[in-house]
Amino acid sequence: MSYTAEIIGVGTELLLGNIANTDAQVISQGLSALGINVYYHTVVGDNPERLKKALNIAKNRADIIITTGGLGPTYDDLTKQTLAEAFGKKLVMHEPSAERIRSYFRQNPNRVMTENNFRQAMLPEGCAIFDNDWGTAPGCAFLAEETYVIMLPGPPRECTSMFQHCIVPFLKTLSDAAIFSRSIRIFGMGEPMVEQKLQAFMTTMENPTLAPYAKEGEVMLRVTAKAQTMAEAREMTGPVIDWVKSTLGDVVYGLDVDSLEETVLQLLAQQGKTLSAAESCTGGLFSKRMTDLPGASKVFKGGIVSYSNEAKKSLLSVPSQLLAEKGAVSAEAALSMASGARKALDTDLAVGITGVAGPEPDERNTPVGRVYIALAAPEGEWVRSIQIGRDRRWIRNLAAHHGFDMVRRYLTGLDLSLEEK
Ligand code: ATP
Ligand code: MG
Repeated sequence: MSYTAEIIGVGTELLLGNIANTDAQVISQGLSALGINVYYHTVVGDNPERLKKALNIAKNRADIIITTGGLGPTYDDLTKQTLAEAFGKKLVMHEPSAERIRSYFRQNPNRVMTENNFRQAMLPEGCAIFDNDWGTAPGCAFLAEETYVIMLPGPPRECTSMFQHCIVPFLKTLSDAAIFSRSIRIFGMGEPMVEQKLQAFMTTMENPTLAPYAKEGEVMLRVTAKAQTMAEAREMTGPVIDWVKSTLGDVVYGLDVDSLEETVLQLLAQQGKTLSAAESCTGGLFSKRMTDLPGASKVFKGGIVSYSNEAKKSLLSVPSQLLAEKGAVSAEAALSMASGARKALDTDLAVGITGVAGPEPDERNTPVGRVYIALAAPEGEWVRSIQIGRDRRWIRNLAAHHGFDMVRRYLTGLDLSLEEK
């Protein structure tokens, strides 16, 4: 059978918008990987009456209720109390948890233990208890009224760690099916077009399922199969992946990778090639993203942030005349920057990025969001011109995406020109 879960975030701070509900995000991602459907996220303040109302609704529409927050020692931490009442359970002192709390304070002598801390060791009778690796409040779970009720602490480090180490293994035992899922990463085709091309499958197939997720500037598809064994489930995803690849074509850049740059790094390493960058409007973002990856030093030699015309001339040998005639934001400047970096850093490939990140157009009236991205390689040079809307951060990020995409396309022998899809 397939289970449904509801996540209830408890905390007035969440309602006021002081903090984002990142716990729900982490838990939802984990549940989706387990093939557990999440139909509702609920948030309530630190108020027992409203929490009870939310629980009454949730128990009628979900098999699993996961709450976050309100497990701490203070008066506003009322989750356990309220859940116990809502499901007709008593709170009892759990001695091992009390001892854990004492030992936590022995190890952290600069923290002061109060009687209140022991409220955290008061747990619903007969519940399963999860130790907290990062704090004092234990998590817990019980089964009542045919609903699995799971309570996790609010602080994201505590919540994430407990969810991953204790709850995921517990939930795996609930489901008799093996679940296997893979992610397909796409750049160069918008989500509406991806959905349109795959719609027939997405709306009719139940196993495996295919679900799209829009990421910044790209799209991810998750293929999830359920079967008796892991090997079977894995096998079931194969034909779907092949079909997606053949339907969408070369915009699919990777399977189970985290980013375009990861694919680029793998390709460079496989082919024993090196890369460098000359960056203007991205201010080093391309190089940063590359060097965020372990193993980058083997393939990425460096990046030059040449923001001013002087820097473009002195560091990358971009001719003054070119800058005077075409401007710093031009296809010619991007090409010259790329080949300048390729020479200066002695690499097989180099990317040059120049554009107007805004908020104002440049002195030649080049519009905000116009970016030129060039690639220099032994066989030649290519340049892409793009017009990206939105804000500075978005423009820079997408410009870096395009730089990686050009390297990927070059290394896999694909056409480098950009078709609008
Ligand atoms: P504590 O022992 O710290 O009191 P708790 O389990 O009682 O933990 P809360 O008091 O509700 O949790 O929240 C503690 C902190 O955890 C909040 O100030 C907030 O920073 C963070 N937090 C709570 N809920 C969430 C959430 N859903 N997403 C992200 N952060 C959260
Ligand atoms: Mg608290």
